[in-house]
Amino acid sequence: MFGRRSFIFGSATTAVLGLASGVEASDQITVVTTTGMIADAARQVGGDVITVQVLMGPGVDPHTYRQTRSDIVALTRADLVLWHGLYLEAQMEVLMADLARKRPVVAVAEALPRDVLLGHDDYADKFDPHVWMVPTLWADVVAEVCRALTEVAPQHADHFAARAAAHTAELNRLAAYATAQLLAVPEPARVLVTAHDAFGYFGAAYGFEVIGIQGISTESEVGLSRVRSLVELLVDRGIDAVFVESSVSDRNIRALIEGAAAKGHEVAIGGELFSDAMGPEGSYESTYIGMIDHNVTVIAAALGVAVPPRGLNGLLGLGSWHDHGIGQHRQHSPPLWCHW
Ligand SMILES: [Zn+2]
Repeated sequence: MFGRRSFIFGSATTAVLGLASGVEASDQITVVTTTGMIADAARQVGGDVITVQVLMGPGVDPHTYRQTRSDIVALTRADLVLWHGLYLEAQMEVLMADLARKRPVVAVAEALPRDVLLGHDDYADKFDPHVWMVPTLWADVVAEVCRALTEVAPQHADHFAARAAAHTAELNRLAAYATAQLLAVPEPARVLVTAHDAFGYFGAAYGFEVIGIQGISTESEVGLSRVRSLVELLVDRGIDAVFVESSVSDRNIRALIEGAAAKGHEVAIGGELFSDAMGPEGSYESTYIGMIDHNVTVIAAALGVAVPPRGLNGLLGLGSWHDHGIGQHRQHSPPLWCHW
């Protein structure tokens, strides 16, 4: 979104270096990623020497996504494939293992140290994959993206390292904002009820109790008894805000609200959160920083904090979760770290 292809200087550099190392002069490094979050990390680190194609667009659920025929074509032509791993792309595991025998394929979240990963009751021998919810964890993923790019294109090592460092500084700024806003939520109100269990790391980092109607993956169906017991919980604890997710149907959340209403307890939708996919293409919320800024700001606001208008960078869609407009933020200047 920051016009990364328009930097002629960068392209010329690529061409010269490309020739020097025997690569076709016109060739950029083609990176294919599964999720939008990983695509953003690749763009932040790679800048204009790479071309990024993302398989899962806004609103797409990675737990249930199956590759299309054109995805397979893109994957088999890529110079580098970046996927999340930790069983997030459950339907693509076999394909990725197969692909990894032929080309560079890196599961970027698998690089996180095991002691920072959380388990989950649903997954006896697996970790919770939703590590992007906490910017300091995501910084480790960005470092892994940098490592993977450097391995594929060592001639750009300095370029990648400088951009990764600059992006990490932005992630740290986001982390500080998130901590400040979320710790301002009064302790009894720190309960996050969402469609599925995507916020485990978020809860652990910011002291929230997290309740997902579905488990850690959206692959399972929700039973009536689960909805009933959650309705009881909302009523008993006086929880009056629940959150919907952009990549998961809101059917179960609406069943909760209706169930609570039948018992005389009014529950509102606190907002729509980006859990497993980012915002509309071209919007601030389609970047990782915009996505997390949105989530933090919406949650804190719904739970009683006087948040800054339009979030950390003043770029969030007009405070309304259903009309963050496509292309609304195109006119803003690139961040300072785009220093060409
Ligand atoms: Zn999920």
